[in-house]
This record gives sequence, C-alpha cells and structure tokens, in this order.
Amino acid sequence: MHTAFITHPACREHHAGPWHPEAPGRLAAIEDHLIATGLDPLLRHFEAPEVTREQLLRVHDADYLDALDARSPEHGLIHVDPDTAMNPHTLAAARRAAGAVVQAADLVLAGTVQNAFCCVRPPGHHAERHRAMGFCFYNNVAVGVAHALASGRVERVAIVDFDVHHGNGTEEIFHHHPRVLLCSSFQHPFYPYTDLNFRAPNVIHAPIAAGLGSEAFCAAIEDQWLPALDSFAPQMIFISAGFDGHRDDELAQLCLTEDDYAWVTQVVCDVAAHHAHGRVVSVLEGGYDLLALARSVRAHLEVLLT
Ligand SMILES: [Zn+2]
Repeated sequence: MHTAFITHPACREHHAGPWHPEAPGRLAAIEDHLIATGLDPLLRHFEAPEVTREQLLRVHDADYLDALDARSPEHGLIHVDPDTAMNPHTLAAARRAAGAVVQAADLVLAGTVQNAFCCVRPPGHHAERHRAMGFCFYNNVAVGVAHALASGRVERVAIVDFDVHHGNGTEEIFHHHPRVLLCSSFQHPFYPYTDLNFRAPNVIHAPIAAGLGSEAFCAAIEDQWLPALDSFAPQMIFISAGFDGHRDDELAQLCLTEDDYAWVTQVVCDVAAHHAHGRVVSVLEGGYDLLALARSVRAHLEVLLT
C-alpha cells in the first residue's frame, strides 16, 4: 500500500460550460477505469483537505486571491479568460485540488506512503502568481512544492511537467528559485506561446514539434531533463502529469501513447530512487480524451505502484 490516491467529490462540481473539455467526466473516467482494471484496491485512498489561505499565499498574491473570491458567482458562469470560467463550486474544487497536493507532500515526507497521485481538477500549471488562465486558478503543484520546502524537511525539489502545454504558471512562480528545478516538455509552438528566449538557470525546456511522437519525446527527456536532474539531485520530485500529448487527444498534436507515459514515469521514479528516497508526488493536469486519459493514468499508476 505505498501509493496514495487523493481526490475529493468537490472536484467534480466545478464545470466551465457544457462543451468545455476540462469537464467533471475526466475524473469519473479515471476512477471507473481503475475499478474496472482491478488497480483501485491497490491504492491507498485519501480525501483531500481544503488548502489554507496561508498555503496559497506562498505562491499567489493576496490581492489575486481576494479578486477570485470576489468574482465567484452565486449562479451561472463567470469567465476569467476566454477558456477559463468559474461556476459557484469552482473555488471549493480548487481548494481541494491544491489541498490534495499539500496532503500528498505531507504523506510522502512523513513516509506514510512512498508516492502519491492527486486525481484533482481544476488543473493548475498555467495559473501564475497573479493570474488565472488556461483552465487553472490555483497552481496546485506549486502550492505543494512551496509546502514541502516550508516544512524544512527538504532543501531541493524538482518539478517535471510532461503536459503537452508549457507550464507557464509554474515557471513564472519558481524561475530563479535556488531550491527548485523545473523540467518541462511540451508541444512548441503552441498554447500558451511561451517565449523560450526567456531563460532562467533552474528552468529546463524540452520543446517538441507538432506531429512528433515517442522518439522525440524520449530524446527530449533523456537529453534535456536527465543531466539537469542528476546534477541538481532533488530530495523530492513533483510531477505535473498532463496526458493531453496522447495521440488520441484532440487538444494537441503530439503522438504519445500510454507506454510513453509509463516510460517517463519510470524515468522519474528512477531519479527519485537514486536521489530522493523514492519520494514522488504526481498531480493531474490536462488530458481530455476520456479513454486515453484513463488508460494513461492507469499506466502511470502501475509504475508508481511498483
Ligand atoms: Zn495541457
């Protein structure tokens, strides 16, 4: 029982309109598939707590949090950008999503579990210190990393982000942070159209052109991520686990498969075993084709469980 699976029913109450791809059915598809394939009983289940304002303030500005609270609708939808909308339940879902990563960090650092997967929404990696965008409100993985560092139990934390979109928010929050390494792979050029000329010594970009698949992905990880991870020697690794680079996912044009997600998970777990006592916290980001998402999460969890 060494892998925690953390979620909360509130994460299914947020929706951004009837045709929005970041929909509650994503979590249902994952959980149904884990039950159908017999993986579910192997996981240690936890219900996510709400993140506290103090925990959010480590990575977001107070006036941004206040503005989100003030805009939260009593009914209907409020758009904060063309892709990102709040319903009356959005912030409650977001508080559980970020709270899940805090709990995951605590469970892994205490040795209660070896690793953890946060099956949560809304996602987080596009959320900047002062801006919601790209379906994201609170930067869940950043909240968890800041919590781990604040605990005093780790000095160096790496974030690896294999979502098909660049995690601009995580980069904006942690660029030039001396205790955080951020390695990301993403389709490029593509949303959010990050300027790759902007560089920071703790940020590793592995851009991949549209239409490419496993070979380019593996080469990018091996050539760009691994040397940086080995020299940084993280004491804990967080994963921004987006599965929207799957070839069946219509939101992007990479051609990855669940085998690629199993492979990159194994690579990250090997680095964690070598440097970080195996400590891994994985956080769901994107992934919009429901079957591909469910199969990919299963492949990811099968590696975390070994
Ligand atoms: Zn994405």
